[in-house]
Amino acid sequence: MVRVRFAPSPTGLPHIGNIRTALFNYLFAKHNNGKFILRIEDTDRERYREDALDAIIKGLKWLGINWDEGPDIGGEYGPYFQSRRIEIYHKYAKKLVDEGKAYYCDCSPERLKRVREEMRAKKLNFMYDRHCRKRNIKSDPTDPSTVIRFKMPLSGETCFDDVLRGKICFDNSTQDDIILIKSDGFPTYNFAVVIDDHLMGITHIFRGEEFISSAGKHKHIYDALGWEPPKMVHLAMILGKDRSKLSKRHGATSIMEFAEQGFLPEAMMNFLALLGWSPKDDREILSKDELVERFSLDGLSTKPAVFDIEKLEWMNGEYIRMMEVEKLTENLIPYYRKWGWINGEKYDVEYLNRVSAAMQERLKKLTDIKELGFYFFQEPSGYDEKGVRKQFKRDRIPWMKFVLEKFENLDNWREEKLEKVIAEGMEKFGVGAGKLIHPIRLAVSGLTRGPGLFELLEILGREKTIARIKRAINWIENNVEE
Ligand code: GLU
Ligand code: ZN
Repeated sequence: MVRVRFAPSPTGLPHIGNIRTALFNYLFAKHNNGKFILRIEDTDRERYREDALDAIIKGLKWLGINWDEGPDIGGEYGPYFQSRRIEIYHKYAKKLVDEGKAYYCDCSPERLKRVREEMRAKKLNFMYDRHCRKRNIKSDPTDPSTVIRFKMPLSGETCFDDVLRGKICFDNSTQDDIILIKSDGFPTYNFAVVIDDHLMGITHIFRGEEFISSAGKHKHIYDALGWEPPKMVHLAMILGKDRSKLSKRHGATSIMEFAEQGFLPEAMMNFLALLGWSPKDDREILSKDELVERFSLDGLSTKPAVFDIEKLEWMNGEYIRMMEVEKLTENLIPYYRKWGWINGEKYDVEYLNRVSAAMQERLKKLTDIKELGFYFFQEPSGYDEKGVRKQFKRDRIPWMKFVLEKFENLDNWREEKLEKVIAEGMEKFGVGAGKLIHPIRLAVSGLTRGPGLFELLEILGREKTIARIKRAINWIENNVEE
């Protein structure tokens, strides 16, 4: 039975790399009918952030990455928290001390600082000088004046197998006597991760390659406890398009910011899955079910993955286009509320659906509608400058007046009728369609581009169309030189 875990530390908001790790664990579990576990590694009490924890939970739920077990929190599984498992870590730390594989250390911070400075003066990397290794201090894991350190072998080398990279070895002499239990009684990451991965029956670990050197240390602890480590899969790092460390500059924000910007969870999942994994054909749009079905170890790469925000936007646009119109409306409504475009419980769903249908092709992110479709909800507060220069010339006024008058007297506000008015205008003035269409579009929307004009006008309705054309004519008369 495959059992994997996502083990975030709630010290900062979860970013693309964290969530990609969660996703790969999840896809691997689902592909193998295994279990996916969420374990919160909250043993660093100084760096702990409540908002980070909330964001992790929210982010996973938003993406639909659900965990399969955990303590019951009112009919739902909660995550495991390491901070609630302290006795377990103490028990194993004591065992290692009893067996002579770990020891209490009472070195004061001042002493350690002095050692650090001496080593720095000699241009050496800091390593604890093992002062207490043979002193046999008696203490207890809860005693704040001592920590528990691991007795690293002093020579030889230690190796572990990485599924993607093969055997990875470390020279033991470079390994420090790492701390297992800190003076505050909490375990270190290195210790708790080993204990929990073993006790929770984890079979495979997927995590970022920045943990490779930690895995070398963990191997010693596994050996000391006589345990077999899980299979290790260290995922390639994710870089920005310029091949530098991924950051906000590349548009890589925390996961919930993507949600707020109007990315769809389905698109986000699809996009993340392709960061370091490939289905080995040219398909890029893959549903959650398809990802689960196709996810496999041999599609994983050790070459850095590149985060390309434009690709994410393209993909998101594809998902928006695949949506049912009604579903798109449902997704847009929260934004409309946020922007004050609709208020209260009363709104015209029919109207919103027509707006969705008109705009569906044009959105990459849900929030794009703020700039591209505001005029369905608000009067334009100005006109596109370039558009004004090209379309709002004074000689257009008679043409616009003609269209206006015809619109006012139309018996039926339908696309076909609107189109006929333009055709009549072309005939009458001997001009191309664009000469009539463009200024009208600019008048009603303030923009030079958008959905088909007749569709737009039909949705907008007669009243608003007429008012806006009048207003634009007025504006030209007052603002454009002869
Ligand atoms: N708590 C570690 C982190 O947040 C987990 C690393 C691991 O998966 O072992 O990155
Ligand atoms: Zn010491």
